[in-house]
Amino acid sequence: MQTTIQYTISANKPHQHIFEVSIQITNPNPNGQQLSLPKWIPGSYLIRDFSKHLNKITAQTITGTNLTITPLETSIWQIEKTNQSIIVEYQVYAWDLSVRGSIFDHHHAFFNPTSVFMQVIGQEDHLCSVLIEASNFTEEHHWKVATTLPAVQINTEGFGQYQANNYQDLIEYPVAIGTFIELTFNACNLPHKVVLTGKIESSKLDEKRLIKDLIAICEVELKLFKQPYPFKEYLFQIMITEDGYGGLEHTNSTALLCSRNNLPYLNTQHPADKYLNFLELCSHEYFHSWNVKRIKPQVYQNAKLDKPVYTNQLWWFEGITSFYDGLFLNHANIINSDQYLDRLAKEMTRVYRMPGRFQQSVAESSWLTWTKFYQQDENAVNSIISYYTKGSLIALGLDLTIRAKTNNKQSLNNILLNLWQNYGLKNKGLPEFAIEKICSQVTGIDFTEFFKKYLYGTQDLDFISLFEPFGIEFTLRPANDLKDLGGTSKTQITSIQLGANLTNSQNKSIKVAQVWNEQSLSKAGIASGDEIIAINGYRMDNIEKLTELMQILDQNDIVECHYFRRDELYTTNIILQNNIADRVELIKTANYGKLAWLQN
Ligand code: ZN
Repeated sequence: MQTTIQYTISANKPHQHIFEVSIQITNPNPNGQQLSLPKWIPGSYLIRDFSKHLNKITAQTITGTNLTITPLETSIWQIEKTNQSIIVEYQVYAWDLSVRGSIFDHHHAFFNPTSVFMQVIGQEDHLCSVLIEASNFTEEHHWKVATTLPAVQINTEGFGQYQANNYQDLIEYPVAIGTFIELTFNACNLPHKVVLTGKIESSKLDEKRLIKDLIAICEVELKLFKQPYPFKEYLFQIMITEDGYGGLEHTNSTALLCSRNNLPYLNTQHPADKYLNFLELCSHEYFHSWNVKRIKPQVYQNAKLDKPVYTNQLWWFEGITSFYDGLFLNHANIINSDQYLDRLAKEMTRVYRMPGRFQQSVAESSWLTWTKFYQQDENAVNSIISYYTKGSLIALGLDLTIRAKTNNKQSLNNILLNLWQNYGLKNKGLPEFAIEKICSQVTGIDFTEFFKKYLYGTQDLDFISLFEPFGIEFTLRPANDLKDLGGTSKTQITSIQLGANLTNSQNKSIKVAQVWNEQSLSKAGIASGDEIIAINGYRMDNIEKLTELMQILDQNDIVECHYFRRDELYTTNIILQNNIADRVELIKTANYGKLAWLQN
């Protein structure tokens, strides 16, 4: 009979940011038990070596005899042979304010099981019991537990015994502990819960609006995939910070990090862009409940977490998810078609501003995500493309093509539903290249050339033709100013560009963040990290000053630039180039609405 592995975790040392963990193994391997900790967490494709945060690792038998425990490599430990039950104890240093690791201080605690619970090698499929222990600290501060880990016996605060079917199941349930703002709602009759931790003007939070919008988004998604739903309950665990933004998907919950400015307040003017970004994030992670958590690449099924796992398919799992996350705001009637098209144009601009899209295909971006996308350097604009952003344009291209060719009888939704019914619900993984074939099979449209050009090749999609049947004009226009992100143009166009991302530096200068190859600054020898201090003898202590100066200059003007590289002062001449058209604008034409695509 399989024995249960008993994990215990306690949060009692907030000042040291330490979780105390113990693991009881009833039937260890008589030849010497090994344990391991994941090196990466599903959904985030970077080797993170969580073991670096483990300290004071000890092992003993159930009767108290000390056993040697030796690291075989960074994340695998060997315990000496014994015939008795073993108890392993260690501390986890938890000071990573992200959705991928663990954090514990006087204000809240959060952990992913991948960061804190070692895997018992050879017993990966055994039941995992987890005791989330109330400590003196948590009791004194009236902390509560929020997790979707199935409870066995817990108190009203949520402390007590939980249980997962096996280790792979266990790591799907991050745990938040603290004092929360708790919101609950039903979407399609399923209970949903939102817990927020962090410093926030809670009395001003527009809870009703947040709940109303989340219900609308969740119901659009649940109705798209139809019953049976993938979960019986769902939890949004939200950590609020000054400027964080990100999320990680799990089978019936998501951990989100957002800025307090992302939330709706009673006096917020709607639709506020930052709040819409937050709703998009919620919409995105919720959609992953189907797309990647259940409809998933074959290689992600029981993926080993000790080394990278490679797939070409992230264009689908992140790109399609990114396409729908914004579209659902329109389908949920949170934004109208004009607002959606403006946001879409800005999303598209992010691709058209990346010359790196001609250097790397989306499929390769997915395959090499471990070293390229997740470890981007300042040259990324010139060398890579994101499988999120260009993947979402491939999704858009697919949706528009299917709708136009079938007179709206089919859409990308049909492919999603097919994948859900034939793969997700059947727990069947998707082999490489299968989705491309399924797109053609389901719709009867041959997409072979489409994928060859846009997924495995580096061509731009022909959005002028793709949008035309829908009465939408796709145009590329030059930037109005240095902060222009694309979308509907309101200001007067300036003709000069520098080909760089610039920020205001604390040194009262303009810091060069990224430089586009073959554009003005690059040609003048200016590199990322440099600080521009003067142009034509005028002090440049902020971007606004530079923008004003650019407006009175012309193409081919030569300006003198003083800049620091590290602590060394240099002078160079910049030849001002004309602005290239790389900002996307989407405008409705007289034909808009003949082939309906959007709400309102
Ligand atoms: Zn995602």
